[in-house]
Amino acid sequence: MIFKTILIKYGEIAIKGKNRHLFEDALVSRIVHALRDVEGEFHVYKEQGRIYIDCNETYDYDETIQALQYVFGIVGICPVMKVEEAGLRQLGNDVIAFLEHVYETHQQTFKVVTRRARKSYPIESMEVNCELGGRILEAFPEMKVDVHDPEITLHVEIREKIYIYSKIIPGQGGMPVGTNGKAMLLLSGGIDSPVAGYMISKRGVRLDATYFHAPPYTSERAKQKVVDLAQQVARYSGPINLHVVNFTDIQLYIYDKCPHDELTIIMRRYMMKIAEHFAKERGDHALITGESIGQVASQTMQSLAATNEVCTLPVFRPVIGFDKQEIVSIAERIGTYETSILPFEDCCTIFVAKHPVTKPNLNAIKRSERKLDEKIDELVQTAIETTEIIRVE
Ligand code: ATP
Ligand code: MG
Repeated sequence: MIFKTILIKYGEIAIKGKNRHLFEDALVSRIVHALRDVEGEFHVYKEQGRIYIDCNETYDYDETIQALQYVFGIVGICPVMKVEEAGLRQLGNDVIAFLEHVYETHQQTFKVVTRRARKSYPIESMEVNCELGGRILEAFPEMKVDVHDPEITLHVEIREKIYIYSKIIPGQGGMPVGTNGKAMLLLSGGIDSPVAGYMISKRGVRLDATYFHAPPYTSERAKQKVVDLAQQVARYSGPINLHVVNFTDIQLYIYDKCPHDELTIIMRRYMMKIAEHFAKERGDHALITGESIGQVASQTMQSLAATNEVCTLPVFRPVIGFDKQEIVSIAERIGTYETSILPFEDCCTIFVAKHPVTKPNLNAIKRSERKLDEKIDELVQTAIETTEIIRVE
């Protein structure tokens, strides 16, 4: 393996000025975390506005790249060959060795892009490009120069050492987790909420999660499915404290006391309240749901307003304007889709009315809720006290 170093590219627009080092330090620590279970020894460090990973002899290349592809904040992953400075002649040999190792055939079009970050290097970039280009054409007569749209762009970066690379493997983009606070995800077993959590976390936000289950109406397997989804999201977001709330008694009580066409809205208002309780307890700055306008009766504009009304924290709904198919595409790409479509019952579907209100009137909803008396507060209190917290890594 000629790649003993990996150069990490990150978006620079958002990180100018005094926040830059915070961003970089967070990214370094996320990378260290992502590589902790990967075969090999790694040294992750910042140098001259770049992040590098030095790898030992026996590291697992594929596993390493895969792990890095889960890290928010990384735009590109470049496996590089690092060489000592030993004159242009030797650099030519190194470049030829690089192409020999990395490519099986040598008929591609190419260009050389030299960046001379170390200004004391005696030869100008253009001259290095020409010299190396010439050496490549000599060594591989079937390769051709194409400066506009080459198949191979060979980057040569002259710094303390010299770095040669030609592949930029795409990363997740976004911002390193931990640079933008923390939020509470309402995580159900569906397709939308894991995607919503992924999207907010991508902006650098750490996640907690709350799941409402209703045993025995919902099974242990339905709960396990949510734990599995939390685990899949945690591959990107880092550890999640998943709060599993037993919602059965609250649901049964609402079912007993309130008009059935209002059940879903009232239940959802209690879900938001309880999730917000845990959010505040954990110091989270917002709630996150997977709601999308018009997807179901509980997600019309009026229903969204009615559920929103019980919250004092901001509620982020990153898929609010997405069609189902757009959400599905993201779920497939991030790897949550297969789990989400497993056919386990959801706590809401069990108590849904045949014809739920689609334009709930907030005053009517509040009037119905008054029938719940103090007993609902006791039930909420018990649900909070008996909540199980699962730390998902
Ligand atoms: P999903 O959006 O995950 O596919 P869904 O399509 O069944 O679930 P709804 O039941 O309308 O959608 O719920 C909308 C949002 O409310 C979900 O995206 C999720 O954030 C939250 N939610 C719904 N049910 C639960 C639950 N049992 N536990 C936690 N959050 C829930
Ligand atoms: Mg949904």
